[in-house]
Amino acid sequence: MIPTLLLTSFLLTAQLADPDKKFIELKNKLEKFGFQIIIKLPPKRGAYGLLQEASKKIWINPVVFELNIGTQTLTHEAVHAAQVCAGKGKIKTLGLNIQPINYARPFFMRYTDIHRQDLEREAYAVQTQPNSFELAMSLLEQHCK
Ligand SMILES: [Zn+2]
Repeated sequence: MIPTLLLTSFLLTAQLADPDKKFIELKNKLEKFGFQIIIKLPPKRGAYGLLQEASKKIWINPVVFELNIGTQTLTHEAVHAAQVCAGKGKIKTLGLNIQPINYARPFFMRYTDIHRQDLEREAYAVQTQPNSFELAMSLLEQHCK
């Protein structure tokens, strides 16, 4: 019985390891550059993630782990973090030459402020790339070091 149990728990761990590892790697990288990750309900209602520019605090709504979008959410906020670094504290677009996939359009088009819309378009563009994790990591390296 014991070997079977061990095998089961090993398989479960193996399944969970990849997204978890990426989340932690990204979190460590953000913390290295002075951002604080808070796993709590964000002060803005209904948000999965939120970055407060002035304090460099990033809230991650715990519900994202149940929805299996933890890494995706942190990736999105990491792009905003790189935008804060690029603007030396005042958030600005990175000027990336990539577009978000069409289904993400309503998510950033709902922002009426044009500047905000550009910032969100960029975050969704990175978030929806197949290599979004690697891209976010390198954007942080590039703009925050
Ligand atoms: Zn955003």
